[in-house]
Amino acid sequence: MSAFDELARRNRAYAESGRLAQLNPIPKTGVLIVTCIDPRVEPAGFLGVEQNDALVVRNAGGRVNDGTIFDIALVTSLREAMGATDLPPLEVAVIHHTQCGSGFLADDDFRHGFAARTGLADAGLQAAAIVDPHVTARADVQRLRSSPLVADRIVVSGHVLDLQTGLVETVLSATSPYSRDEQALD
Ligand SMILES: [Zn+2]
Repeated sequence: MSAFDELARRNRAYAESGRLAQLNPIPKTGVLIVTCIDPRVEPAGFLGVEQNDALVVRNAGGRVNDGTIFDIALVTSLREAMGATDLPPLEVAVIHHTQCGSGFLADDDFRHGFAARTGLADAGLQAAAIVDPHVTARADVQRLRSSPLVADRIVVSGHVLDLQTGLVETVLSATSPYSRDEQALD
């Protein structure tokens, strides 16, 4: 008996629908979501995202890190290789949330213990903590907008999901790279 058994049972029912073979890799909404692995922060729930609607990158906190930037750079290059150059630029939505578990990394005792156990650098762990999601969502949008790997091929917006109300608040609106100077005044 495995914890995965129930999901495998659901998969067999899904496979019988034959639906997956009808889908293509271009997301219908043109949106790539970067958000947290917290199971409450499920785009199918709070954004009504259905299969084939969006690309979704999830990690602890929904942080923009080297791995996130690699994923977005690869997606944009694949879109071009697949001849999707007539599509509008990929719109990336960075969505952080309140009550994020990554906030524990701001606790000195927890972080020191985690650093000792994993061998990861304390400073890097401290930077990964989300204490105020409004601050980190803005910082991560700016990191994407300034990344030479992706900045000229995407538009980026930043948001915060409030786990109490279920509402998503936009903290930085989507802009093309050509209006980045205006956004710097925010
Ligand atoms: Zn989280």
